[in-house]
Amino acid sequence: MSHTTYKNLIGGHWVPSRTGKTFLNINPANSDDIVGEFQASGAADIDDAVAAAAEAYKTWRLVPAPKRAEILYRCGELLAERKESYAREMTREMGKVLSETRGDVQEAIDTAYYMAGEGRRLFGQTTPSELKSKFAMSVRMPVGVVGMIAPWNFPMAIPSWKLFPALVCGNTCVIKPAEDTPLSTFNLVECLAEAGLPPGVVNIVTGFGPDAGAPLVSHPGVRAISFTGSSEVGRIVGQTAAANFKPCSLEMGGKNAMIVLDDANLDLAIEGALWGAFGTTGQRCTATSRIILHKKIAAEFTRKLVARVDALKVGDGLDEHIQMGPQVNQQQIETSIRYCEIAQKEGAKLLTGGSVLEDGVYDKGHFFAPTVFGNVKPNMRIAQEEVFGPVVSLIEVESYEEALEAANGIQYGLSTALYSRDVNKAFQAMRDLEAGITYINAPTIGAEVHLPFGGVKQTGNGHREGGTGALDFYTTWKAVYVDFSDTLQRAQIDNAD
Ligand code: NAD
Repeated sequence: MSHTTYKNLIGGHWVPSRTGKTFLNINPANSDDIVGEFQASGAADIDDAVAAAAEAYKTWRLVPAPKRAEILYRCGELLAERKESYAREMTREMGKVLSETRGDVQEAIDTAYYMAGEGRRLFGQTTPSELKSKFAMSVRMPVGVVGMIAPWNFPMAIPSWKLFPALVCGNTCVIKPAEDTPLSTFNLVECLAEAGLPPGVVNIVTGFGPDAGAPLVSHPGVRAISFTGSSEVGRIVGQTAAANFKPCSLEMGGKNAMIVLDDANLDLAIEGALWGAFGTTGQRCTATSRIILHKKIAAEFTRKLVARVDALKVGDGLDEHIQMGPQVNQQQIETSIRYCEIAQKEGAKLLTGGSVLEDGVYDKGHFFAPTVFGNVKPNMRIAQEEVFGPVVSLIEVESYEEALEAANGIQYGLSTALYSRDVNKAFQAMRDLEAGITYINAPTIGAEVHLPFGGVKQTGNGHREGGTGALDFYTTWKAVYVDFSDTLQRAQIDNAD
């Protein structure tokens, strides 16, 4: 089957990698379907892209923010027109079902409109000076060339969370998409270019992490790094950035807990558990991977959940009837297999799933059966480490306090959920769960773009995407003083009496 070869986008030109190497993007549901061929880039390509971004920065930073915002708005409109075809291409490149890839494109549309609005805000402050005839104010300034490294599970949404706030703030960008999902970044940037983004303002360099990602992080011309991915790689990225005193936003893994108390609406909690644990085939940083059950409802919840999981339709996400698609690649399948073995060795009880699906309709894809483990203890590895697959652990507890301890007893702190009708417990959970996000009577997934997104502990390093937190990362504050007294006035000295 013939396929398209995509080149890097550098300074508005489509150029092959200087390495001369390429790689294939293959549909995880059907290995016969080659989505495209992409450049396996290296450090020299990053050098070129950073130089192009630095050149474009000279003029882009001077474009008034409301004008930059108009380009984002137009980009949002183009994305909306092409939502269906981009969603289909995304399902082909990473596997999640069509309703979810439509949601992924919608998230980019929402972010475009939201950040377009920020073009007429980007507020700073004015404040009285301590001296006479002097104005004092703070203004947001762009950072410069920003390097962006994205994961594969939200192939358009996550690049949009990075690119759109960076652009409205006046930065120029070099983005390295995940090697499994470069096409969705191309689609996003195609809309930006058609919307009027000048050449060189966004540059795309595709390739593998150590070859193309690492040189972007260490490049002296890159003034800030925005990374989303695993905690393991995030640690390397953060250390490299720190060595150059480079601001670095790290959004990393999760091991998200849903607590179901004995007064919860059980049917609602089961719907939430199914969506939270098996949406995106469990490959979300916010996936519900631990369900902490009050002992009074544990047996009923478990029985009903397992029945619903057994009924899930697994297959090619392009089929509208399918509820759960494949895993993104063979490596993710192997991780799921490994954790299922670990869980059973630790004494967890396999209630359903736990195996690769490879016969018949599954023979050309990376499919894994939706899996539930019971009898899980909070300190087991299956309850502590991120699997990033369709595997959920059930943990039984005797009280809300024990549930809270289990929920918080992990190294991650991204998303959490509580199902209860007790308003006091709900507010306690909102206060006490150690996480960047807490849902009440909703699963651990479902973030909206205008709220801060990110986590505590080993999930992140204190920055936030989404909301106005994104503007804080992509701008730097400048304090400006204007003295119109025509005299030398010395702060802290001349007004001390
Ligand atoms: P990953 O860490 O393997 O890769 C992420 C990106 O980093 C890819 O583009 C990869 O090429 C690049 N990379 C790899 N090695 C690198 C290196 N040495 N230097 C620079 N870049 C390098 O993660 P993944 O498998 O793509 O994504 C899954 C992970 O992402 C999960 O841990 C998930 O929880 C996390 N995630 C977090 C969020 C969040 O916002 N907190 C959102 C989505 C995914």
